[in-house]
Amino acid sequence: METPILRKPVEDRYSIGHKFWTDHTGDPSYEWAYKTFDGHHPGSDFYMPEGSLVLAAFPGVVVRRDWHTGMGNVLGIRNGNIVAIYGHLTGFTVGLGMVVSAGEKVAESGNTGKATMSGRPHLHFELRNITKPTLKEMVFGPEFGKPIMCWKDAYTYVVNNANTAKTWRLLALRYLGDKERWKEIKKTNHKLGIEKETHTLPDGVEVVIPNYK
Ligand SMILES: [Zn+2]
Repeated sequence: METPILRKPVEDRYSIGHKFWTDHTGDPSYEWAYKTFDGHHPGSDFYMPEGSLVLAAFPGVVVRRDWHTGMGNVLGIRNGNIVAIYGHLTGFTVGLGMVVSAGEKVAESGNTGKATMSGRPHLHFELRNITKPTLKEMVFGPEFGKPIMCWKDAYTYVVNNANTAKTWRLLALRYLGDKERWKEIKKTNHKLGIEKETHTLPDGVEVVIPNYK
């Protein structure tokens, strides 16, 4: 697969009203939300009316479709080691595990979660390089119209069972959006000799996560 080109996740007429890494240090209305990011805005906000088109910024597989207190309805799309997060949505038009192409409609924008902090409906668009060790280090600013420089087709996940026991099934759900696709991850890592899909993978083991197909 070739390095994906990042495209705007909205129609051309909308632009960024609240930039990536804007500093809100000491601002009590943002303090709780951006704590993980030392007071910085971890994404880019496109101000637009509720129900506006949200388009895939690059092709990938839907790995997240859930509710988050701050981001409301949130969608996550993965390609290799990059995950794009789309927040404050009104509704979704794609499901977990679905493969989407660049520019495809994936959701409708909205004002869900704590979007109202900014006083107007918007799309919160966030890019994460999941090879980084912490969420603060994962987020990076978008450069639309250019290839995503830190993109890798596959990446290595080092097993850490601290929060949840990692199994082939759990990794398939997290990275392919479908726990039934665990055999794809097992096959890529057959050398580990772990057969059972519900077996907890040993801490510290390196698992190669293949890209979506
Ligand atoms: Zn935002």
